[in-house]
Amino acid sequence: MNDFRGVRKITAAITTKQEPELSTLQLEMRKIPESEFKWLVQRIFQKPAMAITVIAGILVSIGLTMAVPYLTGRMFNRLWAIYLREQPAVFYVFFQRFFFEYEILKYVEAILLLGTINFLISIIVGILNEYLAQNAERQIREDFYASVQNKSMAFFDTAKVGELMSQATYDVRIINATISPGFRMITQAAISALVTFGLIFWLEPYVMIIVIFFFPFYIITLRSYAKKLSPLTQKVQQQFGICNAHLQENVSGVRVIRAFTGEAFEIKKFGKEVDILRDDIIKRGVQQARYFPPLLLSFTITLALGLSIYFIIIGRMDGGEAITILGVLIQLYNPTYQISWVLYLTHMGLAGARRILRTMKEEDIIIEKPDAIELPEINGKIEYRNVSFSYQRQHQQDLEENNSEDEYRPTLRDISFVAEPGEIVAILGPTGCGKSTLTKLLARMYDVDKGAILIDGYDIRNVTLESLRKNIGVIEQDIFLFSTTIKENIAYGAEREISDEEIIEYAKAAQAHEFIMSFKDGYDTLVGERGVTLSGGQKQRIAIARAFLANPKILILDDSASAIDAKTEEQIQKAMNNLLKNRTVFIITHRLATIKRANKIIVMRKGRIVAKGVHDELLRTSEDYRRIFGRHIQLPPIQKEATGGAK
Ligand code: ATP
Repeated sequence: MNDFRGVRKITAAITTKQEPELSTLQLEMRKIPESEFKWLVQRIFQKPAMAITVIAGILVSIGLTMAVPYLTGRMFNRLWAIYLREQPAVFYVFFQRFFFEYEILKYVEAILLLGTINFLISIIVGILNEYLAQNAERQIREDFYASVQNKSMAFFDTAKVGELMSQATYDVRIINATISPGFRMITQAAISALVTFGLIFWLEPYVMIIVIFFFPFYIITLRSYAKKLSPLTQKVQQQFGICNAHLQENVSGVRVIRAFTGEAFEIKKFGKEVDILRDDIIKRGVQQARYFPPLLLSFTITLALGLSIYFIIIGRMDGGEAITILGVLIQLYNPTYQISWVLYLTHMGLAGARRILRTMKEEDIIIEKPDAIELPEINGKIEYRNVSFSYQRQHQQDLEENNSEDEYRPTLRDISFVAEPGEIVAILGPTGCGKSTLTKLLARMYDVDKGAILIDGYDIRNVTLESLRKNIGVIEQDIFLFSTTIKENIAYGAEREISDEEIIEYAKAAQAHEFIMSFKDGYDTLVGERGVTLSGGQKQRIAIARAFLANPKILILDDSASAIDAKTEEQIQKAMNNLLKNRTVFIITHRLATIKRANKIIVMRKGRIVAKGVHDELLRTSEDYRRIFGRHIQLPPIQKEATGGAK
């Protein structure tokens, strides 16, 4: 769960730890077949030799199973013949001769031997099938995880963590059950049916007529059962996901719930969802109970028995054949009952696969061009060239794209400016005007709709995501730390071994060493869900230390949450001053000291740049800028209003 919540961090620049085969992986995602059934079969046959061995093992096992009624029938005939001949001394001869002289013992031995071999084969088939299932489960889990890690931010804007968790855990487990024992059972049922038909046809084609008569009813009832079960199974899984999502949201939002005494309301709401889940499961159970095929098999066996007796009377069939036919038909009871269970498993597996595939196939992965180049060592010049962007368009990516200009309501419109290497660019403006959005486009959290963003002249869409993000550090407003040690949090994303001394050095530069050492376990202190809770100011300094270590050429700082005491403010300021040196920096801030240091100030309103310049100049020229600082400082007389789209 932690990783899904931390994904913003993972995809964010400095913390990026991407697999080198990212684009191969994206291409793999696109190779996923349309049908979830085909996808499941592919997962099973990832180990083809093993899957074929399982099928061959099942075939042999069924052959051995069906040989038992055949041998029993032959043995019965032999016994019957002896009985007719030796009637007067039947009890005497039983032990003396039936067993030893008339080869009856051989039949018994053969049946025992077949049973033992069958048992051993079943064990091997069971183990191999379990291995197939575990292998498929592992692969699906990894593919799903990799797919989620590579989604664009647009995906996480709408995805529910609880739903994703339910897919990554419950659905993946169910797929495992579909393969083991599902795959084995379904293969067994299909082969059993074929062998039975063949054997009966060989022994007595007339009995086959009864089987052929009932077979279509059998298939129709089976199909109808499956058709009714499928939506019910899917609904149960969906509802399970909803309950999970609800629970997750409640845990994450527990502070708000407590603050607004919303516990009773939330419990009631959750209770309703759980009621729906219970009712759905009951409906599915009722459907499972209404399973008719065993009844049809009973009819078939009864009629076959009647016909066999008639054939014995008219001398067309002997007792041994009748025993064989009934024996093989009775062997079908097992697969008939198993099929209901297999159908249930298969539907659950397919429903799970459908949900997993829907997530995996969501077409919002930020695409890296196949011919994307590595961004070489950069100086840090950044240019926004007529950039427009809208969240709606990102979220509608896989819907029909609405290209109508009238409908286009961008969050950012016609943004153009240049940041020279080493410059500090402060971004200001009222809340919701698009400051964070502007910075998110730089690390390709989202792609621009129009225009382009260039780093040292390279369009960021033409370079690899890894080389782009490695050059950009981000310290967000809401800092996320992983549930691990402070040391590991600072070193997160580093691609080389980091010594303790180095970590301490960066923590010192970030003014974090002192408070870290005040904890009993120092740098080994656990943070987050498993350990201590850090304050906003402390988290910020850990993030600064992390940025020092990553040493990116470009830095984005969202410094707008600044409700901290004067001492912490001073420490953070010191840390920042160290950090900003020799980097191109975008800083979203209202701290006057930082703004005054900026080489360039960009003032935004409603997604547009309304003014650009330096502090003193903007104080004289921009109404918007004056509005921001009017309450805090003495304003000089206004000269002229700088209007929107200033370059
Ligand atoms: P603040 O100073 O409050 O952080 P901001 O200037 O950084 O605000 P942004 O966060 O860039 O503003 O948001 C600009 C607009 O885009 C807002 O109207 C916001 O509601 C919208 N917005 C932001 N993030 C998303 C998102 N992920 N999906 C849809 N709309 C979004």
